[in-house]
Amino acid sequence: MGAPCADSRLGFLGRLRDACGSGALPLLGQWELTCRCNLNCVMCYTDPFNTPGRIRRELATPEILRILGELRDAGCLELCLTGGEPLARPDFIGIYTRAKELGFLLTLFTNGTLITPKVADHLKRYTPRMIEISFHGMTRASFDGITQGPGSYDRCREGIRLLLERGLPLTIKTLGMTVNRDEVREIKAWAGGLAGVQYQFGSVLRPRLDGATDADRIQLPVEEVRRIERADAQFRAERRLQDRRYRRSLRRDGVRCGGGRFRFHIDAYGQLSLCSENRRQGYDLRSGSFREGFFAALPGFPCPNRCPAAPTDAERDTHAAQALAARPQTVPGGPP
Ligand code: SF4
Repeated sequence: MGAPCADSRLGFLGRLRDACGSGALPLLGQWELTCRCNLNCVMCYTDPFNTPGRIRRELATPEILRILGELRDAGCLELCLTGGEPLARPDFIGIYTRAKELGFLLTLFTNGTLITPKVADHLKRYTPRMIEISFHGMTRASFDGITQGPGSYDRCREGIRLLLERGLPLTIKTLGMTVNRDEVREIKAWAGGLAGVQYQFGSVLRPRLDGATDADRIQLPVEEVRRIERADAQFRAERRLQDRRYRRSLRRDGVRCGGGRFRFHIDAYGQLSLCSENRRQGYDLRSGSFREGFFAALPGFPCPNRCPAAPTDAERDTHAAQALAARPQTVPGGPP
């Protein structure tokens, strides 16, 4: 199966969004199914909650299945299932299959190391829109050093092989950090040689969920991110495209993102929030319904990105630089 056309999908979602006018519709959701993981990446923001005590508090299978039904009934079309490592949940296959049966377009974020022939066969039978695997380095030493998981490089490569053998849609992505900045373009070249595989470079680092700042030391400064982007034609084109979309969104309705309007986030404990980056306030899906949470609670949640007027390009760049500088200097794991 070839890679889906991202533009037609985004165009379709954009037209749906436009048709809603100023209303809200929960088109896209990201669901952090668990914080558990078989690895302990140095930049991971969910890893602090990868503990037995925390894992015991995560949503149980029946709760997840009930919420999936509520999402479908509320009009949600697309879900990104992430973690932690979603495949580390023993019930993952059942959850995933139910989501497919309910008709969601699915994206799966995984570290790739738990993909077995059986899992790959199941994903082939219930094909997701996209599978995204984080790939951190081109050598065993650098990759395993980042994941702190001996053997993870080989297991990840094997997981990728199993997916490609079955023609599944795959995106390889790399989070640029001080510990792998010199390998980004090599990883991209390698991924480019894999038939049908897309590649993404990321640089947005997220604070750890427990507020720890110990990963500061591997945060790439803005100027280094720009240097990597400038050196690659695809990265430059993506930056221009993102900027265009951003300006269009600002012109259209003066807000910088669709959190709480078209997008939402659910954490491993059932807290519904505007997005993964903004967890200042949550609505408890264990005790309330998704419909009430999305339509009644989320519009009142605090969000620094609701801006009354569109900034100029120069203001936008300044905001981005300030946001990076002001953020607790942690590294976004982008689990997995
Ligand atoms: S970044 Fe992903 S693979 Fe690494 S520890 Fe976190 S959840 Fe696991």
